[in-house]
Amino acid sequence: MQAYYATQFVLPLPPGHRFPMGKYRLLRDRLSAELPEIHLAQAEPASDGQLALVHAPHYIQAISDGSVDARILREIGFPWSEAMAERARRSVGATIAACRTALREGIAANIAGGTHHAYPDRGGGFCVFNDAAVAARLMQAEARRGMKVAIVDLDVHQGNGTAHIFRHDPSVFTLSMHGQKNFPFRKEPGDLDVDLPDGTGDEAYLHALDVALDELAHRFDPDLVIYLAGADPHEGDRLGRLKLTWDGLEARDRRVFDWAWQRGVPLAFAMAGGYGHRIEDTVQAQVNTFSAALAYARRWHNRAR
Ligand SMILES: [Zn+2]
Repeated sequence: MQAYYATQFVLPLPPGHRFPMGKYRLLRDRLSAELPEIHLAQAEPASDGQLALVHAPHYIQAISDGSVDARILREIGFPWSEAMAERARRSVGATIAACRTALREGIAANIAGGTHHAYPDRGGGFCVFNDAAVAARLMQAEARRGMKVAIVDLDVHQGNGTAHIFRHDPSVFTLSMHGQKNFPFRKEPGDLDVDLPDGTGDEAYLHALDVALDELAHRFDPDLVIYLAGADPHEGDRLGRLKLTWDGLEARDRRVFDWAWQRGVPLAFAMAGGYGHRIEDTVQAQVNTFSAALAYARRWHNRAR
């Protein structure tokens, strides 16, 4: 299975910054040490033209040259640097590459990405550009006209940017399951939103997911799934406010992979958020997602032969 990374582009953050930038490096190291069936490849940066499928040209320019408004930078939560701009482009590029590969091979991944709080003309919540949105539009442009894409967003925070971008686009279905009382405090209506109360545990979560995936199946017939496998619903997360165990998170991932597999729909996944009290726990959740995905990669491989 192919996985794409941009980890050599580390965003320099001031000491004490609350974003766990080190998790990407740790994940890459663990994947290469423990799961040799995963082939890691460096992502190309997304071009201006690709980003402009979703983002306003003035915003792309401002992120590129550092003239971005201080207020927007505060919303993003990262200081501007050339590395920050390059990393944001590479992260979108990794999701694009994962989607292209998934359309050929069935399943592929971005070991970062899932930057679902980014709007066309502004970022927010550690998100600069919206990788899943750009990749969805690009696949529609280059793979097949009329391609239908489902974005299944199980990060604990609502995919507000994604919902906004596709609100009037019936070719992209946005499903978000998230903490009702969590960031962003003003939710954007998507095609299917599932609000979860604080403290939701495995059983209630998985039941809600089953219902949501059933509804997705009834309302939409995707040609591609982009899955945001956020690690932040885990009970050990600082920001998540939910109570999923390791088993619950693994069952969640398998439910989504299985949903796509049963329907023969290619799936690309991205990591999205994860803010464990212990950074190792966030990385463990992500490694578990990759382990689950490998079983499906093998099935796709056998089906193709
Ligand atoms: Zn999140």
